[in-house]
Amino acid sequence: MHRFFVEPNQVSEASIFISGEDFKHITKVLRLGKDDVIEVCDGQGADYQVTLNSPGEQTVSGRITSQYPSRGETPELEITLFQGLPKGTKMEVIIQKSVELGVYAVVPFSSQRAISQIKDKPNKKIERWQRIAYEAAKQSKRGIIPAIRLPQTLKDVLKAVDRYDLMILAYEDENLLTLKAALADFEKNCDQKREANKPLKIGVIIGPEGGFDPQEAAACKAAGVITVSLGQRILRTETAGMVVLSQLNFWK
Ligand code: SAH
Repeated sequence: MHRFFVEPNQVSEASIFISGEDFKHITKVLRLGKDDVIEVCDGQGADYQVTLNSPGEQTVSGRITSQYPSRGETPELEITLFQGLPKGTKMEVIIQKSVELGVYAVVPFSSQRAISQIKDKPNKKIERWQRIAYEAAKQSKRGIIPAIRLPQTLKDVLKAVDRYDLMILAYEDENLLTLKAALADFEKNCDQKREANKPLKIGVIIGPEGGFDPQEAAACKAAGVITVSLGQRILRTETAGMVVLSQLNFWK
């Protein structure tokens, strides 16, 4: 079934309204019309099955016949990927794949050994990355469009540690603690009083190609970040985040 994202204000109690690009796509490209059934997502985790009415000039409306939580979401986890800025167009692949793997938000950051920096037009970059997140969310049938936030510095990232239940740094020079052991520790010690129906907020920090400077790793630890090893092999920056995301999915 064809599925479309709409803004929450396009959804009323019993009907939805679609205009703009999606209207053209539905009526001109897919040639859907009266009594055809589509699926619509409000981008906030709710999906609707909708039976279309006859299209108007610029808008098509439809009747909501059922509503259900988007199947592409895992409501128990909310993972933000803090990604050290990689070279070239790698960030695009990282965004696409992490959206497929269920990421909640992606925040690029610059650090000492980052080769690439966003010097000019950061908003243009974000706009492009957000578009990639939208396409990937559509393709993978997510219930939200993960936000791509403006680049930060590692310092800024560390200021936000308190907002997460668990903040992990994948650190190539960590020899002792594996991700598996860190998650087991967290489960043992995590606050039992945490509201059961609230998502677990996890931040994952991945270094750029050049990795982390020991001082940066020390600053992360001092801020309450848990440094973990992903094993003996050194993974490329675009691989490391995906490994953590899939392991977190396996865990919850
Ligand atoms: N240049 C570094 C490697 C950087 S890899 C070196 O040669 O040592 C890029 C990023 O991926 C790292 O900063 C880290 O966040 C993550 N990463 C890659 N392999 C990892 C591993 N085995 N354990 C933990 N993190 C890893």
